[in-house]
Amino acid sequence: MLRDSPELYKGLTYPWSREINPAPGQPEQIAEGVYWVRFAMPMSLDHINLWLLEDGDGWTVVDTCLSLNSARATWEQLFGSVMQGRPITRVICTHLHPDHVGLAGWLTERFGAELWMSREEFLMCRAMVGDTGREVPAVALRFYQAAGYNDAQLALYKGKFGNFGRAVYPLPDSFRRLVDLETITIGERYWQVIVGSGHSPEHVALYCPALKLLISGDQVLPRITPNVSVFPTEPSGDPLHEWLRSSARIREMLPDDVLVLPAHEAPFYGLHVRLSQLIEAHNRDLRSLFDYLDQPRRAVDCFPPLFNRDIDQGSLGLATGETLAHLNCLLGRRRITRERDGQGVDWYRQRPETAGFEDGRGPLLRSPRAT
Ligand SMILES: [Zn+2]
Repeated sequence: MLRDSPELYKGLTYPWSREINPAPGQPEQIAEGVYWVRFAMPMSLDHINLWLLEDGDGWTVVDTCLSLNSARATWEQLFGSVMQGRPITRVICTHLHPDHVGLAGWLTERFGAELWMSREEFLMCRAMVGDTGREVPAVALRFYQAAGYNDAQLALYKGKFGNFGRAVYPLPDSFRRLVDLETITIGERYWQVIVGSGHSPEHVALYCPALKLLISGDQVLPRITPNVSVFPTEPSGDPLHEWLRSSARIREMLPDDVLVLPAHEAPFYGLHVRLSQLIEAHNRDLRSLFDYLDQPRRAVDCFPPLFNRDIDQGSLGLATGETLAHLNCLLGRRRITRERDGQGVDWYRQRPETAGFEDGRGPLLRSPRAT
């Protein structure tokens, strides 16, 4: 049973405190027909929150955890306890990352249930799973070489390539597409699909006006900043622009008095404050990065203004992706330039004449592409 013990921290209110940490596999009822279950994960982000929604004679589940034996065992436990032997009739995945989609194929297969996902997430997930076991493509090596990786760092990347599919059970061959702003019925209630982009291509959050709940996936998190990265599959993508735009849109569209149910950490009130904090943090990073580029630098030289910790081997990949996202955003705003040298390494430098332009107000209305 959740006990009320509201905690105000950095502008957000956590109704059951910030540190509430339900035991893995022990469901907590959030609202009528809505249960929160935490699953453990063996990594630095050591848990994910999943949501069980009563749906007539069965259950709709939102997100599924990694394809691990321990997670399957937690599901088995839930089938026999809170789910009372009633079947899962629908699996919704907010987005393609393995902690969200990992067991979707297993659950849909086991119950003959449908997978509901946005189209880009479904297709991209299948493409990425398809990379598992393949050789690293030459274009991906050139991408990290351009970012400034040395041979040891390239070898590290090679060793990790294809990991994505290892914790994802094969997805079903067909799915039910979720579309931005459509309304779906779960149990007795309407839930509206809210698509965001930048953390992943077509991330789905679910908003229930009657219950004043927002299942926010990784789009809005209370403490950590959702990762926004550029990857070798789309070197000139501008996911940070998309992320900033969709965050502002969600803040504009949704009321502020919803309880946010994030995929990581504790549920909270303060959707608008949190979105503003996240947007402002990225804008601050863009300003610091611009200032830092008063001389030519490679992507790997640009960690100091963006991260207040040393980047080690374990965090190099994520740090590089995030740095490139900020660089591509500044390129798209025409605030900086990029030049490739004879060794295939990209050097970035500010356009000093744009020093007065902030937060997207550049000499041009921004271009949709960073090239
Ligand atoms: Zn994610």
